[in-house]
Amino acid sequence: MASDKETIVVNEQDLSFAREVAAQPGGEHIWRCFACGTCVAGCPMSEVEPGYSPRKIIRQILFGMRDEVLSSPMIWYCLICYRCYARCPQKVNFTDIMRVLRYLAVKGGYVQASVMDRCDSIDKLTNSVRRELVKRGFESGQDAFDQFREKVEAELGGLAT
Ligand code: SF4
Ligand code: SF4
Repeated sequence: MASDKETIVVNEQDLSFAREVAAQPGGEHIWRCFACGTCVAGCPMSEVEPGYSPRKIIRQILFGMRDEVLSSPMIWYCLICYRCYARCPQKVNFTDIMRVLRYLAVKGGYVQASVMDRCDSIDKLTNSVRRELVKRGFESGQDAFDQFREKVEAELGGLAT
């Protein structure tokens, strides 16, 4: 993905990319984005990964930076939590746009389909851990956290093979 300081030559970019994203369910309102950054401010992934910016990804799509976006690991970081969509004043559905990007990345051969399966496994694991933490986190037991750690380590060990 291009750095913030890199010059973008729009004429050399693939301007059909934005139209392709907008044609997919959920991508319709991408044109409405006015780069306010509200989505970044409320994004839990942006808090742990400062380089992750829904606003930046949308600008890159609109500038037609197909290769940079679809080959970036950033499109797999999204937690699909819909906080950005809920807060966006323009009702840009960035969460579903991320689904579209993943679909286009696999379809376009930018990433192996197995990556999607692995991300699905991680999503299920994190959702299950989150559910257990909410359910039992207030019960104080260190045992619960030890169990979660073992579960995560076992799952990540399986993913690394
Ligand atoms: S909150 Fe909406 S309008 Fe603002 S930058 Fe994000 S997607 Fe664009
Ligand atoms: S859906 Fe993705 S981009 Fe939107 S707030 Fe959640 S993690 Fe961030």
